Amino acid sequence: MPASKGYAAQSKSTPLAPYAFTRREPLPSDIVVDLLYCGVCHSDLHMARNEWGNAVYPMVPGHEIVGTVTSVGSAVTKFKVGDIAAIGVLVDSCRTCSKCEKGEEQYCLNGMTLTYAVPDRFDGSITMGGYSSNYVVDERYAHTVPANLAATKELLAGVAPLLCAGITTYSPLKHWGVGPGSKVGIVGLGGLGHMGLKFAHSFGAHVVQFTTSLKKKEDALRLGADEVVLSTDEDAMKAHANSFDFILDTASAPHSLDPYSALLKHDAAMALVGLPEVPPVVDVTNFIFRRASLSGSCIGGVPETQEMLNYCGEHNITSDIEIIAMPQINEAFERMLKQDVKYRFVIDLKTL
Ligand code: NAP
Ligand code: ZN
Ligand code: ZN
Repeated sequence: MPASKGYAAQSKSTPLAPYAFTRREPLPSDIVVDLLYCGVCHSDLHMARNEWGNAVYPMVPGHEIVGTVTSVGSAVTKFKVGDIAAIGVLVDSCRTCSKCEKGEEQYCLNGMTLTYAVPDRFDGSITMGGYSSNYVVDERYAHTVPANLAATKELLAGVAPLLCAGITTYSPLKHWGVGPGSKVGIVGLGGLGHMGLKFAHSFGAHVVQFTTSLKKKEDALRLGADEVVLSTDEDAMKAHANSFDFILDTASAPHSLDPYSALLKHDAAMALVGLPEVPPVVDVTNFIFRRASLSGSCIGGVPETQEMLNYCGEHNITSDIEIIAMPQINEAFERMLKQDVKYRFVIDLKTL
């Protein structure tokens, strides 16, 4: 079994620290990937600190992964040794249910296999994520990276966050038909939010960025916002009443949905992707009297993730990142909680 080293949480209150483990024995359709970069998603923090109550320790987080293929099984056709491969939140699923057949494996009726902290479908071992030296994955769940985005190390580091922050915002914007003529709101300018902003702008929508810190205004405008609104400024919020076709809420901390849902048009939709540890209390009248929808969205399936990567290649879209060394991960978690990240930390795994 391939030996791996990484950084693991041993409990909800211990900092992440070096940890050695083994990966599953590669199967004929598996690739082994030597990891280069891994993004730091707020979900990693929620999981490591057991904020959702489903943690399994030791836990190696990380699901925004790029690396180099070092070996391929006898049945592998999509990759050869030396190729760049990308791995996201979803590393396996039942492959036979209606959702898997449709390429919406993230909604697998038998439960998708997450990159870390769940039992592996083949050997039952607990999956370990990308804050580590290598990964073993069925090629079906690995993605190719457009050549122009793999041209330099810096670009490739900015590709890693596309595997979660990118697809989690691309998928709902596509699903709700965002494009020219739509007025779209993005709540929160963090890892997911800045990618949602880039995509909504790229799709031709009029984009309003909501933020709790006006310090991010210049950045939001540079990233493609047409307008930036401080969500605590009641007058600025009211000026947008009943005007949005779609609002994507990426906020990671508990907050009221009401100031945002009051801005929806008749028949419009608000989708939640942020997953705070405390569920929101919702003023249903904002939905009832507009026949508006409150919805949610989970990452994206395998085909849509590849489509998103190809789109990013065609439009030269990557994440805005700050590269960190592996030992800085605990400090990075603390900075993420202070909303002090522009706009994604990415771990250089050569520093392991
Ligand atoms: P992040 O980088 O920490 O960004 C979160 C942003 O939320 C912050 O930058 C902040 O933006 C905003 N925010 C924080 N507290 C807020 C509050 N009280 N009210 C309004 N906005 C607030 O986190 P992330 O990695 O983007 O992840 C965001 C959330 O999405 C997390 O809960 C994560 O677990 C979840 N997630 C879900 C999926 C999915 O499939 N649905 C996938 C990945 C992640 P401002 O400073 O601009 O206010
Ligand atoms: Zn994530
Ligand atoms: Zn399935």
